[in-house]
Order: sequence, then structure tokens, then C-alpha cells
Amino acid sequence: MFENLSERLGSVFDRLTKQGALTEDDVKTALREVRVALLEADVSLPVARNFIKAVEKKATGQAVTKSVTPGQQVVKIVHDELIEVLRGEGEPGALRIDNPPAPILMVGLQGGGKTTTTAKLAKRLKERDGKKVLMASLDVNRPAAMEQLAILGQQIGVDTLPIVKGEDPVTITKRAKTQASLGGYDVYMLDTAGRLSIDDELMAQVEAVRDVVNPRETLLVVDGLTGQDAVHTAENFDERIGISGVVLTRMDGDGRGGAALSMRAITGKPIKFVGLGEKMDALETFEPERIAGRILG
Ligand code: GDP
Repeated sequence: MFENLSERLGSVFDRLTKQGALTEDDVKTALREVRVALLEADVSLPVARNFIKAVEKKATGQAVTKSVTPGQQVVKIVHDELIEVLRGEGEPGALRIDNPPAPILMVGLQGGGKTTTTAKLAKRLKERDGKKVLMASLDVNRPAAMEQLAILGQQIGVDTLPIVKGEDPVTITKRAKTQASLGGYDVYMLDTAGRLSIDDELMAQVEAVRDVVNPRETLLVVDGLTGQDAVHTAENFDERIGISGVVLTRMDGDGRGGAALSMRAITGKPIKFVGLGEKMDALETFEPERIAGRILG
């Protein structure tokens, strides 16, 4: 997930821990290298800068440089600071889905992994939380996308709203809402249409749908490989629609991982899950401790 970053940081810290005694300059030099590694991982500049500043403040005091294992102390400070920058509030991956039927709105750009993630999350809610889930595709411009969700639904044993040709997204949403109530569903997930880029039409459509259901969760699904672009996308969607969290997909790829580190700090929104492959089980809770551990190898 963070191979390159992890490797880079590993070599900086290896040197530091092997060195024994450390001067403040040694620590500063190492942190400069950490900063470069973060920027190369496509962490946004202000986030990288604040991160290094926070670490430097804690790591250059006498308590660290005069300690018996200064290198390890620096690594521990970096580790704790990583957790700090990754942390959202509350339980990792928690969703507000009490009071059935709870609507979850899935938003994002086309190709980001929205439909796949909708199904993965539905499967998780069904299997882990014992929820009865209904999925509905609102992608009226791409019949193939509607079909795709229906096929995934069959595969994972989750109901999808029957497709009615010619309906607009708001009408489908109203039908999903009624069906969710009448059918005794705990959760209904709305897979909104994506576009190749953010445009007014897309946003207006999602706003209209949002206003029909008042979603309990609005999750932005975004390709983690796109680094800072993923963060900009989140800012845009949050401004216009209001999002409650983010799912970063394709984190199984040779991602530089920067989006994971910048997202919370820049947008104020937590990453709730990460996508780690195309399979229906390849969805993981975003756990700051675990992620920090992975980054530091
Ligand atoms: P949508 O247009 O946003 O609905 O995107 P899709 O859900 O159709 O996903 C686009 C492609 O990305 C599909 O081939 C998915 O299998 C793939 N995909 C989605 N999530 C992941 C992921 O976490 N990792 C990998 N490797 N591929 C993914």
C-alpha cells in the first residue's frame, strides 16, 4: 500500500537507529529526508510541512537526543504523529446506520470504484453487521453500470432495486426509499452516477437525490492512486454535497499513498475504508494504528 514511502522512511530510520548518539542536526537532517519522502508520496505540501514541524518540536529536545536510544525515540514520535494525522473521530469504519431504513449515498467520479465499493460495503454490512441491505443504481446514463450493480448484488446475495427503463435518478431514489421501508431493509445504498470530471450537472443531480433522502452517510469513493487529486475531489464534493467520509480505492496498487495522509488534514473528513482489490472482500476498515505501522514497515 505504501511500498515506496515505507522503503524511503525505512532507510532514513535505519541509519538513525544505528547511529547511536544523535545531535539535533542529525535529527533535522533525517526529518528533511522524511519531508522529501512525504512529498514524493504526493502528500500535500502544508500537511508534510506541519507534520515535520510537529515531529521536530518533539524530537529535537534534550529528552530525545540525550536518551539511550534516540533513533528509536524519533521513530516512535513519527509513528505517533502519523496516527495523529490519519485519525478521524470515533470508531474506525463506523457508520451511522441506526433507525432503519438508513440511506447511504455513494458519490464520486466515474471509474473511481463507486459501484464496486457499494457492493463491497453492502456485503460487509450484511455479513458482519447482519443488516438487510438494498442497493439501487442511479446511473441512468450508463445502463451498463446499473446492470453491473445488479450482477454484483446477485453475486453477494444482496437485493438490488429492479431497473425500470426511462426513470430519472430522483424517481428511482423515491422508489428505493419506499421499497426500503416496505421491505423492512436496515440500509439502502444509492450508487449515484459518476462523471469523468466534476461538473455542475453531476453535482445538481446528486444534490437533488440527497434532498430526497437526507442520507445518514454520504461516502465519497475516490481512487487513492490519484494522490492530491483525490483530496481535491473530496474538497469539491464536500463543498457542494457535504460528505461524511471517504473510501480510498486501489490502495492495493503501487500507490504513493499521499491521499491517505492528506485527506483528513485538508478536508476534515475521515477515511472510513480502503479498497484493496477488485474482489468483493477487498475492503478494509481504515485503522490509523495499522496504517501507521504499515508505513513504518
Ligand atoms: P465506478 O465507475 O466508480 O462505479 O467504478 P467501478 O466500481 O466500476 O470500478 C472501476 C474499476 O476499478 C473496476 O474494474 C473495479 O474492479 C476496479 N476497482 C474498484 N475498486 C478497486 C480496488 O480497490 N482495487 C483495485 N485494484 N481495483 C478496484
